Amino acid sequence: MSDDTYGLRAAAELIGIMPSTLAYIVSVGDVLPERGVPTSTTYEGTVWNDLKKFVFTSPDIERYKLEMDRRNFVDFKAEYADVYTPDEGPNSRGLEFGPGWTGILGEFCDHMRDYNDIGRSCKLRWGKEKFGALKLFCDYDDSIQRYVEHAKGVAYGRSLGTCQECAAPGRLRYGDMICLTLCDRHAHLAEPLDLERDGKVLDVSAWTRSQRRTE
Ligand SMILES: [Zn+2]
Repeated sequence: MSDDTYGLRAAAELIGIMPSTLAYIVSVGDVLPERGVPTSTTYEGTVWNDLKKFVFTSPDIERYKLEMDRRNFVDFKAEYADVYTPDEGPNSRGLEFGPGWTGILGEFCDHMRDYNDIGRSCKLRWGKEKFGALKLFCDYDDSIQRYVEHAKGVAYGRSLGTCQECAAPGRLRYGDMICLTLCDRHAHLAEPLDLERDGKVLDVSAWTRSQRRTE
């Protein structure tokens, strides 16, 4: 084991990410520093409060670099370079959601590849997580609009049943500050929960529309 150790800020710099990003990945709980890790993983609990005391070793740094490759969809981007044409320009957007939705993303792009193969262009430009659901943005041939919009709807619906961290079955967790679709194991990431709405609102956009209708 290497004797070199680093605090949160120094470790984040070596990995090439913001300290807050490293803190988030630790709080997810799947890739933990090898030394001195508290077992509780809630925002109210030990991991969050003790992050400044965390010690990262050189092997930890390498493990978190690999984890960032996974979170940056490195394998997906190589495999789907013909379908994924990254957004460009000063305010360009990326793939801004958790790695648990990689399978949904691949399935969507398989569909788009089929259209490209028959000469109907469809390119994925970017995507984001909003209120716990996956929203994808594409450039496509007008003639296939309804098919692309349908495929986007399928991806949206599947994301609301899939943990955005690990791809296990999940549901929307309605937090006081954030809504995320997570499995039981990762539900702590949305804490503290809004106990009035958590478990009742499972699609924020649909719920908001229904609220407007009853006004
Ligand atoms: Zn999960």
